[in-house]
Amino acid sequence: MSTAPASHGPDSASRAIAPAARSWFDAEDSPARRELDTCIHCGLCLTACPTYRTLKIEPDSPRGRIYLMRGLADGRIAPSDALIEHLDNCLDCRACETVCPAGVPYSRMLEAARGQLNRRALRFSPLRALGEWALKTLFPERERMHFAADLLRLGQRGPIAALMRSPAVRRMLPPFAVQGYDMTPPILPRAERALERVASDLPPGARMESSPHGLAFHPAGRARARVAFFTSCVMEVMFPRANHEAVRLLVLAGCEVAVPGDQTCCGALHAHAGLRSCAKALARRNASAFAASGCDFIVTDSAGCGAALRECGHLLHDDEAAAAAADLARKVRDVSEVLADVGLPEPAAKLRAPADPARPLRVAYHDPCHLAHGQGVRTPPRALLRRLPGVELTDLPNSDWCCGSAGVYSLTHPGMADAQLAGKLDAIAQTHADVVVVSNPGCLLHMARGAKARGMTTRMAHLVDVLGAAYPAGAGATGPAREPAAAPGASPPPTATARGPAAS
Ligand code: SF4
Ligand code: SF4
Repeated sequence: MSTAPASHGPDSASRAIAPAARSWFDAEDSPARRELDTCIHCGLCLTACPTYRTLKIEPDSPRGRIYLMRGLADGRIAPSDALIEHLDNCLDCRACETVCPAGVPYSRMLEAARGQLNRRALRFSPLRALGEWALKTLFPERERMHFAADLLRLGQRGPIAALMRSPAVRRMLPPFAVQGYDMTPPILPRAERALERVASDLPPGARMESSPHGLAFHPAGRARARVAFFTSCVMEVMFPRANHEAVRLLVLAGCEVAVPGDQTCCGALHAHAGLRSCAKALARRNASAFAASGCDFIVTDSAGCGAALRECGHLLHDDEAAAAAADLARKVRDVSEVLADVGLPEPAAKLRAPADPARPLRVAYHDPCHLAHGQGVRTPPRALLRRLPGVELTDLPNSDWCCGSAGVYSLTHPGMADAQLAGKLDAIAQTHADVVVVSNPGCLLHMARGAKARGMTTRMAHLVDVLGAAYPAGAGATGPAREPAAAPGASPPPTATARGPAAS
C-alpha cells in the first residue's frame, strides 16, 4: 500500500507555482473546467470513499482530489510525487458519485487528469511500462488474449505449477506476479472457451448461426428482443462459462443474440490508467462493430465493461465517431436488466445448499461498483435471484462498498486493496451465505482469492451461473419449479448441466 503523506492539507500534496499561472493542463483532453467547478465542497462524499475511510486524510478523499485537480486547472500548483500518489490511490469506484448532491462527474475528471499526468508527468517505471505494454498490445486483440490465456493454462499445470508453489520461487518473484498467478482461475482449453460451445446447450428449437461477421443465436419461435452481446476480453478467457450461460439465458428468455466478431476490449483498464488514446481507439472500434448489428440493446455480463461502454459517448464526444459512440452508449445494458425486463420462463430446478440439500441455498448479493455506482443497476439482479425456487436472498452489509479489486488496482496497490477486501470478507462472514453473487470479473478474482486465503466455504459466483443452475440445459424452458436440486455452490458441480459458480 502506498504510504500516507506526512501532511494532511491538499496544498501540501502539490508544489506551489507563484504567481498563479495558466492551467497546468494542456488543451488535449483536459478535465472540463465546468465539471471541476460543480463540486460545492460539502463533504458528503467523504465517508463513502474507501480511501478516505482507510487513510482518513483529505487529499485521499473525493473532495481533496477534486481540489488538487482544480489547483492544476487554476495553475496554482504543478504535479508533485505526493499529488500523483493521491490521484493514483483512487480506486475509481465512483461511490462518491452516488452520494454527491451536486452531480459531480468525478470519474470523468479523474480519468482525464490521469491521462494528462500519464502523458506529461509520470516518471519511467519498469512495472508500469510492462503493464502498459500488456494493455496496449494484448487486450485490444482477442487472438493475443487467447494466446496469453493458453500460456497461463500451461503455467497452471506440470512443472511450472510446481515451481509456483515453491516458497523460494514465490519469494523471488515480484508480489504482483504471485498475486496475479494465485487469483487466476483454472483456464479452460481454448475449444471449451469458445462461445460456439453454447450451441449444444440451447433450448429445443433454438439455433446458432456462424458467419464471417460473428455468431447469431436464434430463440425458438419469434424473437422478443434483438440484442448484441459484448463478450469482454477478460470474461472470454477467465470466465468463458459465464459468457456461455449469459447467452443461453438470453436465448431462453426469447432474445435473438448477435455476437459481432470484430468487437474488442472495452478500454476500461486503459481509461483508468490514463491511456486515453488507447481507450478512444478501442471505443471507436466497438462503436463501429456494434453499429452494424442493428440491435435494440448491447448486453454485457461484466460490470466494468458495461460502465466503460456507457462512457463511450462522452469519451468520443468530439470525435468523428461521436454519433456511433453515443448510440452504443445509449444501448448498453447489463445482462440482469435485459433478463429481468424480457423475462425468463419458470425455473426448471430448485436450488439447495451444497452442504445440506435439505435447506435452501443462502445467497448474498455484492454490488460491483461499476454496476451500482457506474450504471445505477441494483434492483434487477436481486429481483432475478428472488424468484429462484430454493434461494434465500440475504442482505450483505455495505453491499456497495468496493471490494478493492478496481481493475488492476489490487495488483498495483495491494495494501489498500486488501484493506477493502478484509471489510468485504468480514461482511460476507456475517451473512453465512453459501454463495455470494458477484457480476464483475475483477471482483470475482479478488474476492475468491481472499475467501480462499481465509479458508471460507462461501463461494463466489456470477449471477448468470446461479440463474443458469435453475435452468439446466436440456431440462426444458417452462413448467413449474421442480426437483432435482441444482447447487451452484457445489464442487464439483452436481451434474454436467447444472454448472457450479465461475470462481471458487
Ligand atoms: S472514486 Fe472511489 S476511491 Fe476514488 S474518490 Fe471516489 S469514492 Fe474515493
Ligand atoms: S464531490 Fe460532491 S459530495 Fe463530494 S464535496 Fe464535492 S459536491 Fe460534495
